[in-house]
Amino acid sequence: MMALLDDVRLVRNHAYINKKWECGDDFQAVENPANNQVVGYVSQLNKAQIQQAIEGAEGAFQPWRKLSVEQRSEYLLRWHDAILNAQKDLAYLMVVEQGKTLAEAMGEIEYGASFIRWFAEEAKRSYGHTIPSHIQDAQLSTVREPIGVAALITPWNFPNAMITRKAAAALAIGCPVIIKPASDTPFSALALAELADRCGFPSGVLNVVTGDAAMISETLCAAPQVKALSFTGSTAVGKLLLKQAAETVKKCSMELGGNAPFIMLDDMDVEQAVSAAMAAKFQTSGQDCLAANRIFVPRHLYQDFLTQFAQAMKSIVVGNGLDPNVTLGPLISAKAAKQAQHLVDDALTKGARLIHQYPGHLTGPNFFAPTLLADVTPDMAVYQEENFCPVAGVLPYDTLEQAIEMSNDTEYGLAAYVYGHNIHDIWRCLRGLEFGMVSVNSVKMTGGPIPFGGVKQSGLGREGSCHGFDEFSEIKYCCLGQLPSASGC
Ligand code: NAP
Repeated sequence: MMALLDDVRLVRNHAYINKKWECGDDFQAVENPANNQVVGYVSQLNKAQIQQAIEGAEGAFQPWRKLSVEQRSEYLLRWHDAILNAQKDLAYLMVVEQGKTLAEAMGEIEYGASFIRWFAEEAKRSYGHTIPSHIQDAQLSTVREPIGVAALITPWNFPNAMITRKAAAALAIGCPVIIKPASDTPFSALALAELADRCGFPSGVLNVVTGDAAMISETLCAAPQVKALSFTGSTAVGKLLLKQAAETVKKCSMELGGNAPFIMLDDMDVEQAVSAAMAAKFQTSGQDCLAANRIFVPRHLYQDFLTQFAQAMKSIVVGNGLDPNVTLGPLISAKAAKQAQHLVDDALTKGARLIHQYPGHLTGPNFFAPTLLADVTPDMAVYQEENFCPVAGVLPYDTLEQAIEMSNDTEYGLAAYVYGHNIHDIWRCLRGLEFGMVSVNSVKMTGGPIPFGGVKQSGLGREGSCHGFDEFSEIKYCCLGQLPSASGC
C-alpha cells in the first residue's frame, strides 16, 4: 500500500484520541477485497480507552462551542483543503481497503470534502427566530445550541463521505465528535484524522476509535456525556443502537438501508433509460444504499429495455479497482459474494430469467459477476431485500398505479428514481412514492445542500442541508420578560 502513496504518513494504524495516536490491546488485519492481501493492521482499543475518548471530547466541548463560528469554520476549511490536496492518496487508500475503482474513490473524496465546505459556510447562517409575543411585555426568541459530544458510527461502502457528512455538521455547529468507522475500512477514517491533526484541531474535538463494534457502541451509548448518536449502516444494527441509546435518551439520527425503485415512464426513450438505470444500479459494485434495486419498465417497452440493458452491460469490466480499465470492483467480502449468489439462485428458482451475466474471469472469492434478471416478482429476495451487489432485477408493469404501489411495497423508503417526460405522471410519482428522496431524470441527487435521508425503516433524521444541523443541536426557547419595576420604560 505504502508504495502507492506520495504521503505515507497518511497511513495510521493507531486510533486517534485527544490528539494522540493510541495503541490498543491488540491489532486486527484489514484485507484488500480485490486480492485478500493484508493491507495493514489496526489497533483494537479497550473499554477504558473509549472512556478516555468520551472524557476528552466532553472536555473539548465548551472551548469548541465558545469559538466564534468563523473560527470553527476556518478549521473546517483547512481540513477541506488538506483533504483535496491529498485526494489521490486518500483515493488509493480507499481502493485498497474498500475495493471500489480509483475513479469512484477520487469522486468520493471530492464528494466527502464538499460537505465540509458546505457546513463551514452554512454554520454562519444557523439562525434562530424571533417570535411575535403572546405574553405582555416579553420578547420571545429561539437560539440553536450545539448538543454536546456526538458519536458517529459509519459503514464501509463510503468510507470517507459517510464520515464527513456527519462530522462536518457536528463540528461546524460546535460539537466534538467520536468517529467509529467500519472495521473493513478504518484507514480512510484514520487518514482523515491525520489531516485534521495537521490542521490544528484542538485536543478532543475530533477522535477516531477502532476496535470491537459491539463494545464501542455499548460504551458510547451508555455514556451520559454522549448526547447524540448518528449512525449509517444496516437497518438491523440501527434498531439495536436505537435500543441502546434509549437508556440515556440520546438524540439519534439513523441513515439505514434502502431498496430503491427505478420507474421508467412509458414516454421515456429506452436508450436513455438504460443508461440511467445502469448508473443507478452499478456504482460501487451495487453496494450503495441508493442503488436501483427494482427496475420497473412499461410492458410494451420491456423486451427492448432488456435487450439494450444486456448490451450495455457488456461494457462493464470487472477487476481490481486500481486497474484504470476496470469499471466494477469486488464486493466487500466473500460472504457478500455468496449472498449475491443466493439472491440470484432464489430468483431463478422462483421463475426469474437470467438475461445476461458477466462472462469474464473473476479473480477472487469477493468478486461477483454483474447479472441481469428479468421477470422479478414480489416473492423473490432480490425484490424484498436490499441487494447490495451488482444484480439488476427488472419487472414489467401495466399501469403507473401498479408501478407506484409495487415500488412502495417494501419496508424501506430511502430513495426512488423516475425517468420520463409526462409531467402528470411525474407528479403522481413525486407525490405517490413513499421515499425520503425522489429523483426525476437525474441519477445524481446527493450533495451538501440537500436533506439526505429516508422514511419508514430507512431511517430517522436528515444529513446535509440546513436540516443536517438538527441532529447535532437543540433549539432553545428564550422568553425575556420585564419585571414590574421596569415597566413603563
Ligand atoms: P453495518 O453492518 O450495520 O455496520 C455499520 C457500522 O455499524 C459499522 O461501523 C459496524 O462496525 C457497526 N456495527 C456492526 N455491528 C454492530 C453491532 N452489533 N453493534 C454496534 N455496531 C455495530 O452496515 P455495513 O454493512 O457497514 O453498511 C451497509 C449498510 O449501510 C447498508 O444497509 C446500507 O444501505 C447502509 N447505508 C446507508 C446509507 C444511508 O445514507 N442511508 C449510506 C451508506 C450505507 P464493524 O464494521 O466494526 O462491524
